[in-house]
Amino acid sequence: MVVLVTGASGQLGQSIAFIASKYPEIQFIFASSNDLDITNEDRVTTFFDQNSIDYCINTAAYTAVDKAESESDKAYRINVLGSQYLAKACQKSGTTLLHISTDFVFDGTASVPYTETDTTNPIGIYGKTKLEGENEVTAHCDKHFIIRTSWVYSQFGNNFMKTMLRLALDRDALNVVNDQIGTPTNAVDLAETLLTIIQSNSTMYGIYNFSNEGVCSWYDFAKEIFRVNAISTTVNPIPTEAYPTPAKRPAYSVLDKTKIKTIFDINIKSWQESLLQT
Ligand code: NDP
Repeated sequence: MVVLVTGASGQLGQSIAFIASKYPEIQFIFASSNDLDITNEDRVTTFFDQNSIDYCINTAAYTAVDKAESESDKAYRINVLGSQYLAKACQKSGTTLLHISTDFVFDGTASVPYTETDTTNPIGIYGKTKLEGENEVTAHCDKHFIIRTSWVYSQFGNNFMKTMLRLALDRDALNVVNDQIGTPTNAVDLAETLLTIIQSNSTMYGIYNFSNEGVCSWYDFAKEIFRVNAISTTVNPIPTEAYPTPAKRPAYSVLDKTKIKTIFDINIKSWQESLLQT
């Protein structure tokens, strides 16, 4: 079985590569943006014509949430048009597309976990382009899984955990917002889930939520990162208003994982347990 991973130099792409040797039955093609620019439609079409690909995991995305507010054209090209080109190529070649999306498709006004059928209403450019990207996938590729995830971290790339660890090197105290509530996702756990979906050979296409289990604020997450790494830096809770950013974030973006757990029979670790294993 041949699995193409786009965005291979990103943190999820690298996390899939990290566990790839556990799946000897899968022949992986890891394509970075240099190998396969998903905004180049001709290149995408040719790539799929030249390779026989059973599954495509699209991790490629414009992920700079704040910068997207001033670079909406670029975010649109990558997250919307890139997704469309991949979806069309997958449809033409009979490839199943696993497309990664985000909790930022929601506005964060809920008070109970979001299910896959809840109303979307993104409040920033990044979330809007990711939602449009989902719609392109749904419109152009019958065999698709859209996996919405949240607060992804890993030992690879740029993420909240690595930022906290870096800042703690030269600061005794850090201010971290405590009124945005969600769930961290260990990128390796997400990678394993994607490969479980592929191995299941399932045709239960559609949207699925995935994160680790539990609920916390960024402040709770930061405190736990320092606790498990035995770092003495103090974390001060602050409200979102005290840390203004160009893009608004949903205040609450916990995802309900009942569907993915039931259909694929997976156990999901708590975010604290998973953090310990990073
Ligand atoms: P990263 O930013 O680490 O990786 C994204 C990758 O996409 C980069 O390697 C980048 O390559 C690549 N890319 C950008 N433009 C193109 C292009 N035109 N063609 C091909 N590749 C391109 O993101 P993550 O790994 O963290 O995210 C994976 C997925 O998860 C994304 O869909 C993201 O939206 C989603 N997600 C992420 C969350 C998070 O907290 N990180 C939360 C929720 C969802 P290059 O570096 O060369 O530009």
